[in-house]
Amino acid sequence: MSKKQFKAESKRLLELMINSIYTHKEIFLRELISNASDAIDKLYYKALTDEAIKFEKDNYYIRIIPDKKNRELRVIDTGIGMTKEELEDNLGTIARSGSLSFKKENESQEGYDIIGQFGVGFYSAFMAADTITVISKVFGSDEAYKWESQGTDGYSIAVCEKDTVGTEIILKLKQNTEDDNYDEFLDEYRLKNLVKKYSDFIRYPIKMNVTISKLKEGSKDEYDEHVEEQIVNSMVPIWRKNRNELKDEDYVQFYEEKHYGFDKPVKHVHISTDGVVSYTAILYIPEKTPFDYYTKEYEKGLELYSSGVLIMNKCSDLLPDYFSFVKGLVDSADLSLNISREMLQHDRQLKLIAKNIKTKIKGELLELQKADRENYEKFYQSFGRQLKYGVYSDFGGNKDMLQDLLMFYSSKEKKPVTLDEYLSRMVEDQKYIYYATGESVARIEKLPQTELVAEKGYEILYLTDDIDEFAVKMLMSYKEKEFKSVSSQDLGIEDKENEAKAETEEKSHKELFEKMTTILADKVKEVRVSKRLKSHPVCLTNEGEISIEMEKVLNAMPNNEQKIKADKVLEINPNHEIFKALTAAYEKDPDKLSLYTNVLYNQALLIEGLPVQDPVEFTNNICKLMVG
Ligand code: ADP
Repeated sequence: MSKKQFKAESKRLLELMINSIYTHKEIFLRELISNASDAIDKLYYKALTDEAIKFEKDNYYIRIIPDKKNRELRVIDTGIGMTKEELEDNLGTIARSGSLSFKKENESQEGYDIIGQFGVGFYSAFMAADTITVISKVFGSDEAYKWESQGTDGYSIAVCEKDTVGTEIILKLKQNTEDDNYDEFLDEYRLKNLVKKYSDFIRYPIKMNVTISKLKEGSKDEYDEHVEEQIVNSMVPIWRKNRNELKDEDYVQFYEEKHYGFDKPVKHVHISTDGVVSYTAILYIPEKTPFDYYTKEYEKGLELYSSGVLIMNKCSDLLPDYFSFVKGLVDSADLSLNISREMLQHDRQLKLIAKNIKTKIKGELLELQKADRENYEKFYQSFGRQLKYGVYSDFGGNKDMLQDLLMFYSSKEKKPVTLDEYLSRMVEDQKYIYYATGESVARIEKLPQTELVAEKGYEILYLTDDIDEFAVKMLMSYKEKEFKSVSSQDLGIEDKENEAKAETEEKSHKELFEKMTTILADKVKEVRVSKRLKSHPVCLTNEGEISIEMEKVLNAMPNNEQKIKADKVLEINPNHEIFKALTAAYEKDPDKLSLYTNVLYNQALLIEGLPVQDPVEFTNNICKLMVG
């Protein structure tokens, strides 16, 4: 029989896994048990919804058999089994769900992060075994198949004999090396401990034959040995356990076991309520974004159980988009088992649970923000963007829900602050919440537009994410204080002396500004005297709703053919030396004025992080100035 090759991508991934210096090789057992449990779940669920299947609880279990003589470890389940095609599809292809593209982006990281995360669970067994044999018989079929592989050189599938429905996995353990001892996976005591550690909550009994030695009666050193079948897991799912009995580690372990993420969650919450609707839930707030989080491939949702039976893997109706990062499960006895996806959407109970959960998550996040800022910042670093999208989407319908969770970098605190904290520090005569936009904190720090606001001692929020300004515009105000861009025309700062001066300059040099506006006719709406600049010569500001930053963001979006333009205004500092040069040029040398105007405009573009339209012309212009 010919060997089939793993798909090219799978092969690479498999190599990576086998050779990974992953220290917890033992997790393969957890992976196999978890697959076995899922397979039984599937049959169990089928039996509950299909009257034709007789279901007897005692017939559903997982068995672990260590065979010291042959150095083999077997994991057997009485689950739904796999057809020939399923064996091929499920075990012949590793790189499902984008695991490889993830790996490419994270080439520097060790294999650790991908193991089990993206459907490579089964393959983790190659960390402990040279040869893996899978014998499976699917429910309702007479035929059984044997899948066998020694790792990267491919796999084979053949018909074989098997009496009962289910799957048997046989691991031929690797030879011990100086560093690694694989014999431990044959040791009953060690196996028992591993099950306790990782798979205790599995709902089905995990059976193992355990050798019991007893001192012979009347003897001091002679033992009677007998073998006893034991159930080595407690079978109580963690969410059914009493919160007081559980430690943080238990929740973290469950998070890992469930492959909710490859990070450590920053917070978990265990809810159990008996109200209008009763349900139990464990929810996690992750620390890091999954690799596909900000893509449309990412699927939000919580696992949904009905009295301990899994009815849906990712129930998206339980989470609003803005909390799509939350992981976990919900178990409710109020939900009907054979409810269809379509019906579920309209289910009143489910809606109530979803509403409840939403409020709970917000509460948890606020608490984290107050009590554990460091972890909140980590969380916010990863998912703040999603919250801001949440503010912006649905026409701002979720503003109230989300505004307290937002944070922006503060010019004063030099770290992210909440809007509430900003308000609490507002200076007496300050009317607005000021913000500046740019691609990084370092760039905004240097923006000329911030000069006047900063001089007044007002705190400025730095908006560095492309979504930020859109979110802020949607908010409009926070606790009755309006947001104001440092680039907006009216800063709302009373500075009579300065304003009067600007107006006089504007009037007395009316023609100069008109001339400059004509020179930059297709580029800016107007050239004006600046009221906000203190030491810098020029800056760009905007009139109207579309800011320069928004123009940048909108035009960077794909399929945006109709270029959106902000109404730009070039502001000139009347107190700067350059102003004198401009007036002089206006009077004596129109060519020079044109040269100066263009150079200043391009400088303002550069400060904004906008591209100079004609860099060659710009550098030639600079040379002209140098040569004088
Ligand atoms: P994951 O469990 O994350 O999907 P695995 O590589 O562990 O990834 O398993 C791939 C698939 O193979 C599973 O989704 C399941 O359909 C199937 N499978 C694995 N083990 C078993 C088993 N013991 N019984 C039935 N199907 C199984």
